[in-house]
This record gives sequence, structure tokens and C-alpha cells, in this order.
Amino acid sequence: MSSSKNKDRLVFVPLGGSGEIGMNLNLYGFGPEGCEKWIVVDLGVTFGDASTPGVEVIMPDPEFIAARADDLLGIVLTHAHEDHMGAVAAFWPRLRAPVYATPFTMYLVRDRLAEAGLLKEVKLHEVPLSGKISLGPFEIELVTLTHSIPEPNALLIRTPAGLILHTGDWKIDPEPLIGEATDAKALIKAGEEGILAMVCDSTNVFTEGEAGSEAGVRDELIKLVGEQEGRVAIAAFASNVARLQTAVEAAEHNHRQVCLVGRSMHRMMGAARHVGLFENARPFIGEEEAAALPRKDVLYLCTGSQGEPRAALSRIASGSHRFVKLGQGDSVLFSSRVIPGNEKSIFALQNALVSAGVNVIGERDRHIHVSGHPCRDELRQMYAWARPRIAIPVHGERRHLIEHAKLARELQVPHGFAPRNGDMIKLSDAGAELVDEVPSGRVHRDGNVLTPAEGGALRARKKLAFGGVISMALVVDHKGVLRSGPEANLFGLAEPEEGFDAVIEKLCDAAQDAVERMNKRNRGDERATEDAVLLAVRRLAPRIWGKRPHVEVIVLPV
Ligand SMILES: [Zn+2]
Ligand SMILES: [Zn+2]
Repeated sequence: MSSSKNKDRLVFVPLGGSGEIGMNLNLYGFGPEGCEKWIVVDLGVTFGDASTPGVEVIMPDPEFIAARADDLLGIVLTHAHEDHMGAVAAFWPRLRAPVYATPFTMYLVRDRLAEAGLLKEVKLHEVPLSGKISLGPFEIELVTLTHSIPEPNALLIRTPAGLILHTGDWKIDPEPLIGEATDAKALIKAGEEGILAMVCDSTNVFTEGEAGSEAGVRDELIKLVGEQEGRVAIAAFASNVARLQTAVEAAEHNHRQVCLVGRSMHRMMGAARHVGLFENARPFIGEEEAAALPRKDVLYLCTGSQGEPRAALSRIASGSHRFVKLGQGDSVLFSSRVIPGNEKSIFALQNALVSAGVNVIGERDRHIHVSGHPCRDELRQMYAWARPRIAIPVHGERRHLIEHAKLARELQVPHGFAPRNGDMIKLSDAGAELVDEVPSGRVHRDGNVLTPAEGGALRARKKLAFGGVISMALVVDHKGVLRSGPEANLFGLAEPEEGFDAVIEKLCDAAQDAVERMNKRNRGDERATEDAVLLAVRRLAPRIWGKRPHVEVIVLPV
């Protein structure tokens, strides 16, 4: 080996997905320190919740790799779930690298890029299943696994420093219903070749046994739908294409016609048909047509299993859906898991359905859901096939990653490293070594605007939500004489016992008092007047409301 070659190194840098389940963004770099060539593996989003009002989509901060965009050779997507590809359109303008994906994933990527007006600009490379991608020092080979969506690919990444197995999301389903079974042969072969590091899904590391096959869910759903007399709605994630297949089979077995409800159902079904799925299914019917059929002839396939307020099922439950009505004797089957944090909204939805006389059946009542991620026995199997020197658990919260690293140790993997977003980890025969910490963080999509999570807009908004707003306006001349006002406006404040008129008068009196008491030097000064009024109102408000509303003061000079 030449001396310059000795300086080459292989590093792994997660910018998202290590410390949370969602927004995956992984980097691999190879080359001399500081002059590495890079690839991005996955570029996903996560979703906001009640703790992020007004922010529905959250993304990893790509700044580190955006600053090295000239050395970025490509963006490789493992599969079409939002947490793996949802941020491509948002960040592509900063990364500008070609995008590689298999046909199903690429169909949905194209859709997104077209929506963002980027389709013509982005170089897209559609790769066949088990295909190869050559990017500088990275020779990548796709390995088909099983998951809950078509075409879940693991990546075998060959570099001069060794072979990486990047699993992406996977489980071992001998009967996945969509796509091929796990390509165990390719994994075993790679294991024999010698895998330096395996970067692996940790989602279900706390669950013993196996995730279970989709075929089991199909058998149970067929039975369960057969037991129903009224309309049936199956609530599932549109992105769980395996489940859509299962639901369609359950409908056909029971001579029910399928009606898709929700935009993302239609979008996902379009992608599935594009790769030849659902070819033999009977044509689906529209919402109006379904409403006219006898109740026992219909099966709705709906979005909104997590109680998302704007999704189809919430609108159906509140009776505000235009065509889809459910009532006494109808059933909703929740064929999905309760995502932690969504319990309240799901229970509210289920309460609304039950109040309307609808039967609600969930995964706890019947076997109508299986996870798409590996449980402990499947992880053990994967380690037995791959036999990596280094285990790098990703796709999990901190507790998942630590537990997964522990499991790998028990399985005699010599080295392990539970990464944090922003860690730069050097991978070599000596093991995994933390060599740097690079900038990482979160970006919020706040309406149309991408903004750093720590930018302050959300913090201010939460404060307003808690305290409400008092706004004061007054006109003061250059001598400091009050010419008009003060006027007070209240937003989001409860009416105290004495009434709004009385407190507004108090606030105005306090403001006027503050202006009149200003010392001569400051009179007529806009800023000083604002400060004086601000102080007076801030002092008074807690005595009225027992809390500190946000106070805005506008002084207009004449
Ligand atoms: Zn996935
Ligand atoms: Zn995922």
C-alpha cells in the first residue's frame, strides 16, 4: 500500500434516525481525512405532533453534507417510506446529486419531485432489484429483503476499506404477499466474503420472537371480514402496501367491493400498480358508488388509523365525510399499530366511532397487524448470516440502539457502536472509532418555510398558545403628549369576572399613567415610550389573569 492510500479512511455519519425512529439520513465517506467522497443513504422525514403546533413535517439538518455537495456522488434510497425518502424534494436543491432507487420507490420520488417542480433538474437512475450502483470508491449491490412495502433493499457497499451491509428496514417474512422473500443467499455469501460493519434496523429490538408473517394477517382478516354484517372499513397506513394487498384479498374472499378513501391511498395504489401489483384485483369503486351498495357488499380502505384529524377516518367518524357514512352495525378494523404518542387521538377517534354504534376492532382483539421490522429472533438470524466485525445499530431511539448493541455483543460480534446523530465513526478492522462530531439537528417545515428547529418561531408560538396576547397601541407627539389611545386588544385571554371592558380600561389607564410618569428626558422618544408601557402592562397582567401573556406595544409618533 502506498503512503497516500494509508491515509484513506471509511467513515459512517448518521445525520438522522440515530436516536429517533424517523427521518433517516446516513452518510458514508471514503478518502483522505477532510477530502472524502460521500454517498447519502436515505433522506427521510418524521412527523410533528401536539408538541410542535403548526409543524407537520420535521427533517434532519443536512448542512454538513450540503457544505460538501461537490464531493457527494449520489443519493441512494433503500425504500419508499417517508422516513427514508420524504425529504428528497426539500433538500435536493442543496445537494444536487443523482438519485438512485428501484422502480417502485422511484415512481413515488418522481411524483414528489414533479410536485416540487424539480423533475426536470434531478438526474434519476432507476436501478433494478438486485442491481448494482457504482459511485467512485463505493460499489453498491442491492439485496432484496422483506418489509411492509414493495422493494425494500439492503445495500452491500464495497469500499477499499471493507464491505458494509446497510440493512435499511426489514423483517424476515417467508410469505410477504408482495415481492420476493428475503434473499438469504446473497446475505450468506456476503457474510462469507467478510462484512466489516452492519448498519441495522433497531425498531423492534425489545420484542422477543419474530414479527410474524403478513400471510397470518391475511387469514385472520379474511375470517374477520366474513363475520361482519354491515359496512367494513379497514384503517391502515397507505404506505403499508403489503396490508393493502391483504385487505383487498380479504374483501374479494368475502365478495365485497373495495373503495379507497384518502389521498395517500390513491397515490400509493398508483405506485403499486406501476410495478405490477394488484393486477388481478377487481377494479375499485368510487365513494359515491360504494354509498349506493348494500352495506355488506362494501369494504373501505381508509387512511387515518392514528386519529390524524384531517385524514379520512376522522372525517368519517365525525359524520363530516361527504360520501362515506358509518353507523350502527358497521365495523372499523384498525389494522395498524398504535404509534407511541398517538394514543389520545386514536382513542378519541375510537370513542367517536363507538358512540355512533360502530364496532371497533384492533390488533389487541384479533391478529390483524404485524410489524414490518425485525424482532430479536430475526436480528439473531441476520447476525448469523452476516457475521459482521462491527455492529452499528440505527433506526431507533437511544434505548433501542443501546439494547441492540448489547444483543450484538451477546451474539459475539467483536465490536459495536451505538451512534448519535452527528457522530463521525471511522470503520476499520480495529473496530469503530468516534473521530469527530459534525453539526446535526432538525429542520421544521413550518407552512411553506424550512426553518431550524431551534430558530425560535415554534417556541414563541407555544408561549402565545399558553399565555395569549395583549396588544397596546397609542399615538404620542414629539413632546410626549398622548394624542390618541391607548387602545388595548386581547387575543386568547379568558374573560375575568370583572369583564373584558373593565380590564381593558385598567390596562389603558396603566399605559396612560406610564406615559405621563416618564421623565422629561425620555418624553417623545418612541422606544422609551414603548418600554414604559410594556413594563406597566406586564406588571398588571399577572394580577388580572394569574399568568404572563405576551405583550405587544405599538407607539405611533406624530
Ligand atoms: Zn420502512
Ligand atoms: Zn424506516
